[in-house]
Amino acid sequence: MADTSGPLFDIGANLLDSQLIKNFDNIVSKSIENNIRRIVITSSHINDTYEAKKLIDQHPDILYTTVGFHPHNAKDFSESHFEKMMELCKHEYVKAIGECGLDYKRNFSSKDDQIHCFNKHLELATLIDLPMFLHERDAYNDFVILLKDHIHLIEDVVVHCFTGDKKSLKSYLDLGCYIGITGWITDPKRGYHLHDLIKYIPSDKLMIETDSPYLMPFDYPIVNKKYNEPSNLIYVLDAIANILKKDKNILAKEIYNNSCRFFNIKNE
Ligand SMILES: [Zn+2]
Repeated sequence: MADTSGPLFDIGANLLDSQLIKNFDNIVSKSIENNIRRIVITSSHINDTYEAKKLIDQHPDILYTTVGFHPHNAKDFSESHFEKMMELCKHEYVKAIGECGLDYKRNFSSKDDQIHCFNKHLELATLIDLPMFLHERDAYNDFVILLKDHIHLIEDVVVHCFTGDKKSLKSYLDLGCYIGITGWITDPKRGYHLHDLIKYIPSDKLMIETDSPYLMPFDYPIVNKKYNEPSNLIYVLDAIANILKKDKNILAKEIYNNSCRFFNIKNE
């Protein structure tokens, strides 16, 4: 299946999803077979970080996680979580603050709750030496204002699953953000505008992710169509290499280096 020689790094996989957790052993084995060397389990709620720890204990050299409230869960955030999050940030297996940000596409939490929650995460990031794993969907204007207020005090930032336009990409790059690209780029209906935009991302700012179980890559020989999983990261890499007309191994190495540097994980 895999024909890439370098190790790969999935910066965002929702392994706590009920489908994925049921198939956890199989998913990890397939990842290892396909040379997915590191996977950051996306936490979308503070409870996820505790749950992720149980998975990480089984593969502490492969798995890591984050701590934060996804904008959909912003309504669950309360002031007492701030201290708890700060405590969790001290653990070796917690590698970023997030997934947090703003999502006005579905508004599962009110805009006010989302803005408050995101602000608290930004504040936390200014106090802690961890990067941020950020989500922005249809919320560019508010998102960039809040980010600009704090970014000079924050270690590093990735805008994960970037699906925006040229203007938002330019602002994020001007702010020094890393950009996470998913299988969205292979979606003929929604993702093709990224084919043009991706060439503007400097090679030292690009990272890749599956966002499993979502965003299954299109037009690849994937046998298990029930859910996306980290082993499919090879197809995200393949798509980007084709679009950029770049050697896949060189690209893989660059992206892997970026990811290790960003999450402060040993590059091996
Ligand atoms: Zn997200």
